[in-house]
Amino acid sequence: MRSLSSSLSTEVIRKATDPSAKSTQQELSLLVDAAAWQACYESASVPRKATLLAYSAPWADGWLRAFPSDVLDTRLSNAVLRTAVSQRLGVETFLGDTHCPCCRMIMDPNGHHCGACMAGGDKIVQHNELRNTVHGEGAKANMRPELERQGLLANLGWPDVPGRRPADTLLVSSPALEVTSRRRFPRVALDFAVVSPFKPSSMRAASDHLLATAEEYATRKRQHLRTQELCEAAGIGFEPVVFETAGGLEAGGRKILESILAEVAKVRGKPVNEVVDQVKARISLDLQRAQHRAIARRRQPEADQVVSGAVSRALLESDLEAIDANEA
Ligand SMILES: [Zn+2]
Repeated sequence: MRSLSSSLSTEVIRKATDPSAKSTQQELSLLVDAAAWQACYESASVPRKATLLAYSAPWADGWLRAFPSDVLDTRLSNAVLRTAVSQRLGVETFLGDTHCPCCRMIMDPNGHHCGACMAGGDKIVQHNELRNTVHGEGAKANMRPELERQGLLANLGWPDVPGRRPADTLLVSSPALEVTSRRRFPRVALDFAVVSPFKPSSMRAASDHLLATAEEYATRKRQHLRTQELCEAAGIGFEPVVFETAGGLEAGGRKILESILAEVAKVRGKPVNEVVDQVKARISLDLQRAQHRAIARRRQPEADQVVSGAVSRALLESDLEAIDANEA
């Protein structure tokens, strides 16, 4: 308590003790929480700072606010809950450094590798769950979404471009859709990703700035193979929506996703907050389950041979999509 009171700013103490300031208990409680968080952050190691920031990001608390219900599929199993809480508290998940059975790289004791490992198909399942959730909300908002539409860039006449599919889901734009580009396009391609702020290459920036990994990846997605430029030349807006494994969503993705959900609320006659909270919970719960699946598989020494039904289905779908794209 003494160390907490020493971390409170004079402004907070003045508000707490001055009757004329008329601060509510809730306001003071939030100020005290913020001061405690800041004191904890300033004395933390780089990995701990990255953890504190990742789990403080907007949208990262969705699963904690969800009403647990079997009907709504918002109840986490005990095993997933244990993993989710362990990750949030920075508790070690593995006994020492071990090799990832999927990619053979050394895994960290906290299990952060599992959220970044591209082998084994877990990332494809995670990506497709996220894509399908937002695609469904686009349909509810009457934005006529098209999944993985082919041939969007075919008319540009550029080599090596016709087979590309820049849209995980393609929406018909409306004035309600809040895009990051200045120009408005009749259609908007949404491109989803989930990135880990705990990779050795990301950790330093992630410990300094909120959502640094997701923001950097969103920029990279726009520039990679000139995707945004090519889409705009074809008359299509390009909007990355990038989550971090802890559940945080970068500003551009937040802007467009929340505007889709505001439209859903309008169409359904529901309060915007209610719709946003439901989707926030859905995505956050899916991310917690995905992280648990990836960790659980890598605890098994034979994980490189054991492929779950969901992963094998996703790999098959992915192969079929690639064949379709080549034949197009
Ligand atoms: Zn791996």
